[in-house]
Amino acid sequence: MPTTVFIPTPLRPYANKSARVEVEGRTVGEALENLTRTHDRLREHLYNENGKLRSFVNVYVNDSDIRYLEKEDTPLKPEDTITIVPSVAGGAAAEAAAAPLTNEEIRRYSRHLIMPEVGLEGQRKLKAARVLCIGAGGLGSPATLYLAAAGVGTIGLVDFDVVDFSNLQRQILHSTADVGRPKLESAAERLTGINPGVRIETHEAALNSSNALDILQNYEVIVDGTDNFPTRYLVNDACVLLGKPNVYGSIFRFEGQASIFAAPDGPCYRCLYAEPPPPGLVPSCAEGGVLGVLPGVVGTIQATEAIKLLAAAGETLIGRLLLFDALRMSFRQMKLRKDPNCAICGAHPTITQLIDYEQFCNPATAIEVSASQLAGLDAALIDVREPYEFAGGAIDGATLIPLGTLPLRLHEVPRDRDVVVYCQSGSRSARALEILRGAGFSRARHLRGGYAAWLRERV
Ligand code: ZN
Repeated sequence: MPTTVFIPTPLRPYANKSARVEVEGRTVGEALENLTRTHDRLREHLYNENGKLRSFVNVYVNDSDIRYLEKEDTPLKPEDTITIVPSVAGGAAAEAAAAPLTNEEIRRYSRHLIMPEVGLEGQRKLKAARVLCIGAGGLGSPATLYLAAAGVGTIGLVDFDVVDFSNLQRQILHSTADVGRPKLESAAERLTGINPGVRIETHEAALNSSNALDILQNYEVIVDGTDNFPTRYLVNDACVLLGKPNVYGSIFRFEGQASIFAAPDGPCYRCLYAEPPPPGLVPSCAEGGVLGVLPGVVGTIQATEAIKLLAAAGETLIGRLLLFDALRMSFRQMKLRKDPNCAICGAHPTITQLIDYEQFCNPATAIEVSASQLAGLDAALIDVREPYEFAGGAIDGATLIPLGTLPLRLHEVPRDRDVVVYCQSGSRSARALEILRGAGFSRARHLRGGYAAWLRERV
């Protein structure tokens, strides 16, 4: 009996554009082996060089993640389906103090007030609530429009972009007349137009490791409307560190995902995807395109979940991943588990503060520093040459730790700042970098061309 394998949009080009493929196999491993045998270009997307399933690809049998079944040895019954879920870019909130409603608000929210699931109590909680939306784009548009209309008292928005003509196909916060204006300006105007009772707080910034905790800590629910992996991991990690629920949505072409991460006892984004895909393997919306109405559906789901969290109503998406396929018009859901070994929310986290997310997501391009870049960096410099070479001339401020002694002297290398290692020409420092990265020094890089290049290029 063949088993149906659902192929996600990003991988369909490698499977003859099929949305589903029937394969034989007694176990998940056998079925995937047969799948990649008939569609051999899928192999590099599903497996790494060591033949292991890539960590940004999750495989489900029916609604269960195989990591919590018998992994690739999970047996298949005739009616089982396999779903491949790749990562794509694109707890109840604290009890809010109940704010009284004015007569005008009672008229405005009357359709909420007559429902027991919201009612006066829920509406007051919404009025007292503070929600932050990261991004005023495709997902942020419908999410904040509905949050404002619903009466969420304070809505924060983080963005630094200006409205582009190509945004109008889906970013319904902005009008044609807004092209060229900062998105925060047109967003604040539109949201206030819908509901003048809502306070809009704008943060004109690219969210990064140095500002994220400051910005996020003033809100009780975070809505992730980002479109790239570095910011997605940043938002997740900041939410876990601050203990704030992260209402997640992502979109690609015709498919979307939604969930709530980082809630107490719920999984986080890293529990689902421990690592991002290698740069370039999963195209962005700018490269791959996106159906304009898709973020409308997913962003509206995010608004729904945020409102449920705030009003403590219904069953939220905590512990569930919702998959939406606009072409097939289907909603499916997968169970999510908290990974006890998760790097940030597990029992023994290795990430205890925000890291460099560009480097985390693009390690290959970020391990080298040129001599000219070095001048602009505030990094600890480690010279891994021999003492006699160091004595003959070194870069100012460098600490000498010869390569052979490095494994024993790791405690001398700072973990809380950027580190650049160098040698004479760049090959010993590459080995030193492997040692440092292996020991968890995620902010270590090495100097391309070594001391020799620095001598040539310095001015
Ligand atoms: Zn986690």
